[in-house]
Amino acid sequence: MAQVGTVKTDILIVGGGAAGMAAAAAASSSGVSVTVADDREIPGGVLNQCVHSGFGLGRYGKEMTGPEYADEEFRRFDESSAIYMPGCRVLSLFPDKTALVSSTDGLSRISFDECILAAGCMERSLWSLPVSGTRPEGVYTAGEAQEMIELGGFDIGSRIFILGSGDIGQIMARRFVQLGKTVVCMAEQNDHIGGMKRNQEECIRAYDIPVLLNSTVTEIHGYPALTGVTLHHLDSGKNELIGCDTLITALGLEPDKSLAEGLETADGYPQWLHFCGNADFVHEIADSASAQGEKLGITVAGRILNKRKEV
Ligand SMILES: Cc1cc2nc3c(=O)[nH]c(=O)nc-3n(C[C@H](O)[C@H](O)[C@H](O)COP(=O)(O)OP(=O)(O)OC[C@H]3O[C@@H](n4cnc5c(N)ncnc54)[C@H](O)[C@@H]3O)c2cc1C
Repeated sequence: MAQVGTVKTDILIVGGGAAGMAAAAAASSSGVSVTVADDREIPGGVLNQCVHSGFGLGRYGKEMTGPEYADEEFRRFDESSAIYMPGCRVLSLFPDKTALVSSTDGLSRISFDECILAAGCMERSLWSLPVSGTRPEGVYTAGEAQEMIELGGFDIGSRIFILGSGDIGQIMARRFVQLGKTVVCMAEQNDHIGGMKRNQEECIRAYDIPVLLNSTVTEIHGYPALTGVTLHHLDSGKNELIGCDTLITALGLEPDKSLAEGLETADGYPQWLHFCGNADFVHEIADSASAQGEKLGITVAGRILNKRKEV
């Protein structure tokens, strides 16, 4: 791994997921120097925790798991001249085109000419909803639970309540049943289930997940550990106490643009700052995040080559 304190690069890419790796491989094929800083120890981002199949049909013409897709992307990335810096968290981006980076070596700076933010997305948490009661153990976002189970090997709960019926909630509902847990209920505030048709078939119908529409959670019970939730029926206004030891929230994703916050002016973001993958908008499929990264990588490398011609 390169010494972070000494890195100077044409393009800094923050995040080595599907989008960041593709952007890096494409940009470096134009002959510019590219550095990818990723806070995880292995490249791939969320792909590594998605052990189910359903990846790569568009990009590779075959069905793969998330880690298999990550391996393919890493192979392309590894064949390029781009540098990967694992375990490096970018803390801030500054207008003078430097980044403050934290790693086990301490704090350091990377100076760059262009920056691509490919930092993925954030999950909305339960505490963003008007929910009363305690803050006990046993409440996780779907992504957190997936990471704990698939990457950490943790055994989470036995009676699972899932709030929200999007793709990640559905995939986790299936996973809990596969692990021998009971999914007591999946509650959805809308009058229809969310997510892709494929997941509705393969996760909800195939695994008989009980879904309750027009309903939400308004109160959390138990301390220090979760014992149940109050389920509120939006159409009748009635409340029902449901016993569970685990509450998984799948309330939607938001692009993580937090590193760009201090850089926005009345004219928008600086011209050297670019967004791709889930940091730009939430991509349902990895193929789309990779394709966007690839296209952006070529465009940004072109900006550097043009600037060189002008000098
Ligand atoms: C549960 C789930 C199931 C899915 N199922 C499918 C499916 O079946 N088929 C399919 O094609 N797609 C699926 N997807 C979608 C697909 O996985 C994503 O769209 C795609 O992987 C997003 O890639 P990304 O590079 O934008 O983000 P990410 O994979 O999130 O990568 C972002 C990277 O940036 C790092 N990072 C963040 N902040 C910093 C920082 N400050 N400094 C350094 N590094 C940072 C993160 O740790 C991460 O490694 C699924 C996604 C999820 C979550």
